[in-house]
Amino acid sequence: RAKEMGNNNIQFYTSEMNASGEEKLSLLEGLRNALEQNQLRLVYQPKVDLRSGLVFGVEALIRWHHPEHGVISPLRFIGLAEDSGLIVEIGEWVLQTACRQNRAWQVAGLAPITVSVNVSPRQFAEKRLVGRVAQALRESSLAPHALELEVTESLIMRDLTQSVGKMRELEEMGVRLSIDDFGTGYSSLSALKSFPISSLKIDMSFISELAENADDQAIAMAIISLGHKLNLRVIAEGVETEQQRDFLRANDCDEIQGFLVSPPLPPGQIAQMLEAQAKAQAGVAAH
Ligand code: C2E
Ligand code: MG
Ligand code: MG
Ligand code: MG
Repeated sequence: RAKEMGNNNIQFYTSEMNASGEEKLSLLEGLRNALEQNQLRLVYQPKVDLRSGLVFGVEALIRWHHPEHGVISPLRFIGLAEDSGLIVEIGEWVLQTACRQNRAWQVAGLAPITVSVNVSPRQFAEKRLVGRVAQALRESSLAPHALELEVTESLIMRDLTQSVGKMRELEEMGVRLSIDDFGTGYSSLSALKSFPISSLKIDMSFISELAENADDQAIAMAIISLGHKLNLRVIAEGVETEQQRDFLRANDCDEIQGFLVSPPLPPGQIAQMLEAQAKAQAGVAAH
Protein backbone atom coordinates (compact mmCIF):
# COMPACT_ATOMS: atom_id res chain seq x y z
CA ARG A 1 0.00 0.00 0.00
CA ALA A 2 2.77 2.40 0.91
CA LYS A 3 4.30 1.81 -2.48
CA GLU A 4 1.09 2.80 -4.25
CA MET A 5 0.90 6.04 -2.34
CA GLY A 6 4.37 7.12 -3.40
CA ASN A 7 7.28 8.47 -1.47
CA ASN A 8 5.86 11.80 -0.45
CA ASN A 9 2.90 10.15 1.13
CA ILE A 10 5.06 7.74 3.11
CA GLN A 11 7.03 10.63 4.54
CA PHE A 12 3.87 12.53 5.26
CA TYR A 13 2.30 9.66 7.19
CA THR A 14 5.50 8.85 9.02
CA SER A 15 6.03 12.40 10.17
CA GLU A 16 2.38 12.75 11.14
CA MET A 17 2.60 9.62 13.24
CA ASN A 18 5.81 10.79 14.83
CA ALA A 19 4.33 14.16 15.56
CA SER A 20 1.32 12.75 17.33
CA GLY A 21 3.52 10.31 19.23
CA GLU A 22 5.79 13.14 20.27
CA GLU A 23 2.82 15.22 21.23
CA LYS A 24 1.55 12.41 23.42
CA LEU A 25 4.95 11.98 25.01
CA SER A 26 5.31 15.63 25.85
CA LEU A 27 1.77 15.74 27.17
CA LEU A 28 2.59 12.78 29.41
CA GLU A 29 5.83 14.35 30.56
CA GLY A 30 3.99 17.56 31.30
CA LEU A 31 1.36 15.67 33.25
CA ARG A 32 4.04 14.06 35.41
CA ASN A 33 5.31 17.53 36.31
CA ALA A 34 1.80 18.84 36.75
CA LEU A 35 1.31 16.81 39.89
CA GLU A 36 4.52 18.07 41.50
CA GLN A 37 4.14 21.64 40.30
CA ASN A 38 0.65 22.00 41.62
CA GLN A 39 -0.96 22.52 38.20
CA LEU A 40 -3.87 20.16 38.87
CA ARG A 41 -7.05 21.60 40.36
CA LEU A 42 -10.46 20.27 41.21
CA VAL A 43 -13.69 22.02 40.34
CA TYR A 44 -16.97 20.87 41.86
CA GLN A 45 -20.33 20.54 40.15
CA PRO A 46 -23.47 20.72 42.34
CA LYS A 47 -25.98 17.86 42.44
CA VAL A 48 -29.51 18.95 43.25
CA ASP A 49 -32.43 17.07 44.79
CA LEU A 50 -35.36 17.45 42.38
CA ARG A 51 -38.01 17.59 45.12
CA SER A 52 -36.43 20.07 47.52
CA GLY A 53 -34.33 21.90 44.94
CA LEU A 54 -31.42 21.79 47.38
CA VAL A 55 -27.76 21.04 46.68
CA PHE A 56 -26.96 17.85 48.58
CA GLY A 57 -23.64 16.97 46.94
CA VAL A 58 -20.95 17.89 44.43
CA GLU A 59 -18.89 15.96 41.89
CA ALA A 60 -15.15 16.63 41.83
CA LEU A 61 -13.85 17.12 38.27
CA ILE A 62 -10.17 17.55 37.47
CA ARG A 63 -8.62 20.43 35.51
CA TRP A 64 -5.01 20.89 34.43
CA HIS A 65 -3.84 24.49 34.59
CA HIS A 66 -1.01 24.39 32.07
CA PRO A 67 1.41 27.36 32.24
CA GLU A 68 1.36 27.75 28.41
CA HIS A 69 -1.75 26.00 27.14
CA GLY A 70 -4.16 27.25 29.79
CA VAL A 71 -6.85 25.02 31.29
CA ILE A 72 -6.77 21.51 29.79
CA SER A 73 -9.89 19.31 29.91
CA PRO A 74 -9.69 15.84 31.47
CA LEU A 75 -11.01 14.47 28.18
CA ARG A 76 -7.59 15.31 26.72
CA PHE A 77 -5.42 13.66 29.37
CA ILE A 78 -7.34 11.08 31.43
CA GLY A 79 -7.02 8.44 28.68
CA LEU A 80 -3.30 9.03 28.41
CA ALA A 81 -2.91 8.96 32.18
CA GLU A 82 -4.88 5.71 32.23
CA ASP A 83 -2.71 4.06 29.54
CA SER A 84 0.52 5.10 31.24
CA GLY A 85 -0.59 4.18 34.74
CA LEU A 86 -0.09 7.76 35.93
CA ILE A 87 -3.83 7.81 36.66
CA VAL A 88 -3.19 5.88 39.89
CA GLU A 89 -1.16 8.71 41.38
CA ILE A 90 -3.43 11.38 39.95
CA GLY A 91 -6.49 9.52 41.21
CA GLU A 92 -5.05 9.34 44.71
CA TRP A 93 -4.38 13.07 44.63
CA VAL A 94 -7.99 13.65 43.56
CA LEU A 95 -9.31 11.45 46.35
CA GLN A 96 -7.19 13.18 48.98
CA THR A 97 -7.97 16.69 47.72
CA ALA A 98 -11.71 16.08 47.43
CA CYS A 99 -11.92 14.62 50.96
CA ARG A 100 -9.94 17.50 52.44
CA GLN A 101 -12.08 20.03 50.60
CA ASN A 102 -15.33 18.52 51.78
CA ARG A 103 -14.05 18.46 55.34
CA ALA A 104 -12.97 22.12 55.00
CA TRP A 105 -16.50 23.13 53.92
CA GLN A 106 -17.90 21.32 56.97
CA VAL A 107 -15.39 22.91 59.33
CA ALA A 108 -16.41 26.30 57.88
CA GLY A 109 -19.92 25.55 59.14
CA LEU A 110 -21.61 24.83 55.82
CA ALA A 111 -24.38 22.25 55.49
CA PRO A 112 -22.90 18.76 55.13
CA ILE A 113 -22.74 17.49 51.55
CA THR A 114 -21.41 14.43 49.76
CA VAL A 115 -18.40 14.73 47.48
CA SER A 116 -18.29 12.35 44.51
CA VAL A 117 -15.00 11.26 43.00
CA ASN A 118 -14.57 9.55 39.62
CA VAL A 119 -12.49 6.40 39.83
CA SER A 120 -10.79 5.12 36.67
CA PRO A 121 -10.56 1.41 35.76
CA ARG A 122 -6.82 1.24 36.36
CA GLN A 123 -7.13 2.93 39.74
CA PHE A 124 -10.00 0.66 40.76
CA ALA A 125 -8.00 -2.43 39.78
CA GLU A 126 -5.14 -1.45 42.14
CA LYS A 127 -4.80 -3.68 45.20
CA ARG A 128 -4.29 -0.67 47.41
CA LEU A 129 -7.47 1.15 46.35
CA VAL A 130 -9.56 0.31 49.43
CA GLY A 131 -6.62 1.14 51.70
CA ARG A 132 -6.07 4.46 49.97
CA VAL A 133 -9.71 5.40 50.34
CA ALA A 134 -9.52 4.60 54.05
CA GLN A 135 -6.33 6.65 54.31
CA ALA A 136 -7.84 9.66 52.54
CA LEU A 137 -10.79 9.57 54.96
CA ARG A 138 -8.59 9.19 58.02
CA GLU A 139 -6.21 11.95 56.96
CA SER A 140 -9.01 14.41 56.25
CA SER A 141 -11.27 13.36 59.18
CA LEU A 142 -14.11 13.14 56.68
CA ALA A 143 -16.98 10.78 57.55
CA PRO A 144 -17.16 7.87 55.07
CA HIS A 145 -20.76 8.59 54.09
CA ALA A 146 -19.68 12.08 52.93
CA LEU A 147 -17.66 10.42 50.16
CA GLU A 148 -19.07 8.77 47.06
CA LEU A 149 -17.12 6.98 44.35
CA GLU A 150 -18.39 7.04 40.77
CA VAL A 151 -17.51 3.93 38.80
CA THR A 152 -18.61 2.79 35.35
CA GLU A 153 -20.31 -0.44 34.33
CA SER A 154 -17.43 -1.43 32.06
CA LEU A 155 -14.97 -0.94 34.93
CA ILE A 156 -16.98 -3.30 37.14
CA MET A 157 -17.53 -5.88 34.39
CA ARG A 158 -13.78 -6.23 33.68
CA ASP A 159 -13.54 -8.55 36.64
CA LEU A 160 -16.95 -8.89 38.16
CA THR A 161 -16.06 -11.02 41.18
CA GLN A 162 -13.15 -8.85 42.22
CA SER A 163 -15.05 -5.63 41.60
CA VAL A 164 -18.04 -6.66 43.66
CA GLY A 165 -15.69 -7.77 46.45
CA LYS A 166 -14.01 -4.36 46.51
CA MET A 167 -17.33 -2.57 46.32
CA ARG A 168 -18.54 -4.52 49.34
CA GLU A 169 -15.44 -3.56 51.32
CA LEU A 170 -16.04 0.07 50.49
CA GLU A 171 -19.72 -0.21 51.34
CA GLU A 172 -18.87 -1.78 54.70
CA MET A 173 -16.55 1.14 55.34
CA GLY A 174 -19.57 3.43 54.79
CA VAL A 175 -18.48 4.90 51.46
CA ARG A 176 -21.21 5.34 48.85
CA LEU A 177 -20.95 4.02 45.33
CA SER A 178 -22.64 5.17 42.17
CA ILE A 179 -22.70 3.91 38.58
CA ASP A 180 -21.64 6.71 36.22
CA ASP A 181 -22.70 6.94 32.56
CA PHE A 182 -25.37 4.31 33.17
CA GLY A 183 -26.88 2.82 30.02
CA THR A 184 -23.72 3.09 27.91
CA GLY A 185 -21.93 0.05 29.37
CA TYR A 186 -22.83 -3.57 29.17
CA SER A 187 -23.58 -4.77 32.68
CA SER A 188 -26.31 -7.35 32.77
CA LEU A 189 -29.33 -6.70 34.90
CA SER A 190 -28.54 -9.74 37.03
CA ALA A 191 -25.07 -8.33 37.74
CA LEU A 192 -26.55 -4.96 38.61
CA LYS A 193 -28.59 -6.64 41.32
CA SER A 194 -25.40 -7.72 43.09
CA PHE A 195 -23.68 -4.31 43.08
CA PRO A 196 -23.63 -2.67 46.52
CA ILE A 197 -24.43 0.77 45.10
CA SER A 198 -26.69 3.60 46.20
CA SER A 199 -27.38 5.34 42.91
CA LEU A 200 -27.47 5.20 39.13
CA LYS A 201 -26.44 8.13 36.98
CA ILE A 202 -28.30 8.29 33.64
CA ASP A 203 -25.72 9.06 30.96
CA MET A 204 -26.02 12.51 29.41
CA SER A 205 -26.33 11.05 25.91
CA PHE A 206 -29.92 10.11 26.87
CA ILE A 207 -30.58 13.56 28.33
CA SER A 208 -29.41 15.94 25.59
CA GLU A 209 -32.46 15.32 23.35
CA LEU A 210 -34.80 14.25 26.11
CA ALA A 211 -37.42 16.90 25.36
CA GLU A 212 -37.92 15.83 21.74
CA ASN A 213 -36.73 12.23 21.39
CA ALA A 214 -39.28 9.56 22.34
CA ASP A 215 -36.63 6.82 22.48
CA ASP A 216 -34.54 8.78 24.97
CA GLN A 217 -37.68 9.42 27.02
CA ALA A 218 -38.44 5.68 27.08
CA ILE A 219 -34.85 4.88 28.11
CA ALA A 220 -34.78 7.51 30.86
CA MET A 221 -38.11 6.30 32.25
CA ALA A 222 -36.93 2.68 32.14
CA ILE A 223 -33.71 3.51 34.02
CA ILE A 224 -35.63 5.47 36.65
CA SER A 225 -38.09 2.66 37.28
CA LEU A 226 -35.37 0.00 37.24
CA GLY A 227 -33.33 2.03 39.72
CA HIS A 228 -36.28 2.53 42.03
CA LYS A 229 -37.23 -1.15 41.93
CA LEU A 230 -33.66 -1.95 43.01
CA ASN A 231 -33.95 0.65 45.81
CA LEU A 232 -31.46 3.01 44.20
CA ARG A 233 -31.59 6.75 43.76
CA VAL A 234 -31.47 7.93 40.16
CA ILE A 235 -29.60 11.02 39.04
CA ALA A 236 -29.54 12.55 35.55
CA GLU A 237 -26.32 14.18 34.33
CA GLY A 238 -25.93 16.86 31.67
CA VAL A 239 -29.29 18.54 32.35
CA GLU A 240 -29.20 21.84 30.46
CA THR A 241 -32.82 22.91 29.97
CA GLU A 242 -35.98 23.41 31.99
CA GLN A 243 -37.85 21.02 29.68
CA GLN A 244 -35.38 18.26 30.48
CA ARG A 245 -35.68 18.96 34.19
CA ASP A 246 -39.48 19.06 34.05
CA PHE A 247 -39.62 15.75 32.22
CA LEU A 248 -37.28 14.16 34.77
CA ARG A 249 -39.25 15.57 37.69
CA ALA A 250 -42.58 14.42 36.23
CA ASN A 251 -41.09 10.95 35.83
CA ASP A 252 -39.86 10.75 39.41
CA CYS A 253 -36.10 11.12 38.84
CA ASP A 254 -34.49 11.90 42.22
CA GLU A 255 -31.60 14.19 41.40
CA ILE A 256 -30.10 16.26 38.60
CA GLN A 257 -26.71 17.66 37.70
CA GLY A 258 -25.89 19.90 34.76
CA PHE A 259 -25.40 23.40 33.40
CA LEU A 260 -29.05 24.26 34.16
CA VAL A 261 -28.18 24.15 37.86
CA SER A 262 -24.52 25.11 37.65
CA PRO A 263 -21.28 24.37 35.81
CA PRO A 264 -18.41 22.91 37.85
CA LEU A 265 -17.11 25.64 40.19
CA PRO A 266 -14.00 26.35 42.28
CA PRO A 267 -14.34 25.58 46.03
CA GLY A 268 -15.00 29.19 47.09
CA GLN A 269 -18.04 29.46 44.83
CA ILE A 270 -19.45 26.19 46.17
CA ALA A 271 -19.13 27.66 49.67
CA GLN A 272 -21.02 30.79 48.55
CA MET A 273 -23.73 28.65 47.00
CA LEU A 274 -24.17 26.63 50.19
CA GLU A 275 -24.23 29.83 52.29
CA ALA A 276 -26.91 31.38 50.08
CA GLN A 277 -28.93 28.18 50.31
CA ALA A 278 -28.70 28.12 54.11
CA LYS A 279 -29.82 31.77 54.30
CA ALA A 280 -32.76 31.12 51.99
CA GLN A 281 -33.82 28.16 54.13
CA ALA A 282 -33.52 30.17 57.34
CA GLY A 283 -35.65 32.85 55.68
CA VAL A 284 -38.31 30.31 54.79
CA ALA A 285 -38.26 28.92 58.34
CA ALA A 286 -38.68 32.41 59.87
CA HIS A 287 -41.87 33.07 57.89
P1 C2E B 1 -18.19 12.38 33.94
O1 C2E B 1 -17.73 11.85 35.26
O2 C2E B 1 -19.34 11.68 33.30
O3 C2E B 1 -18.49 13.90 34.20
C1 C2E B 1 -19.45 14.66 33.52
C2 C2E B 1 -18.87 15.61 32.53
O4 C2E B 1 -19.93 16.37 31.94
C3 C2E B 1 -17.93 16.65 33.09
O5 C2E B 1 -16.97 16.93 32.07
C4 C2E B 1 -18.83 17.86 33.29
O6 C2E B 1 -18.14 19.08 33.33
C5 C2E B 1 -19.69 17.76 32.07
N1 C2E B 1 -21.00 18.39 32.24
C6 C2E B 1 -21.65 18.67 33.38
N2 C2E B 1 -22.85 19.22 33.17
C7 C2E B 1 -22.98 19.30 31.82
C8 C2E B 1 -24.04 19.78 30.95
O7 C2E B 1 -25.09 20.24 31.38
N3 C2E B 1 -23.82 19.67 29.61
C9 C2E B 1 -22.67 19.14 29.11
N4 C2E B 1 -22.55 19.09 27.79
N5 C2E B 1 -21.66 18.69 29.88
C10 C2E B 1 -21.82 18.76 31.23
P2 C2E B 1 -15.42 17.04 32.38
O8 C2E B 1 -15.21 17.77 33.68
O9 C2E B 1 -14.75 17.54 31.16
O10 C2E B 1 -15.01 15.53 32.64
C11 C2E B 1 -15.11 14.60 31.60
C12 C2E B 1 -14.85 13.21 32.09
O11 C2E B 1 -13.50 13.09 32.53
C13 C2E B 1 -15.71 12.81 33.28
O12 C2E B 1 -16.98 12.38 32.87
C14 C2E B 1 -14.87 11.70 33.88
O13 C2E B 1 -15.09 10.49 33.20
C15 C2E B 1 -13.46 12.18 33.59
N6 C2E B 1 -12.90 12.81 34.79
C16 C2E B 1 -13.01 14.07 35.24
N7 C2E B 1 -12.35 14.25 36.39
C17 C2E B 1 -11.81 13.05 36.71
C18 C2E B 1 -11.02 12.56 37.80
O14 C2E B 1 -10.69 13.26 38.77
N8 C2E B 1 -10.64 11.23 37.75
C19 C2E B 1 -11.02 10.40 36.72
N9 C2E B 1 -10.60 9.13 36.74
N10 C2E B 1 -11.76 10.84 35.70
C20 C2E B 1 -12.16 12.14 35.69
MG1 MG C 1 -18.70 11.27 36.96
MG1 MG D 1 -20.96 10.66 33.75
MG1 MG E 1 -20.08 10.93 30.91
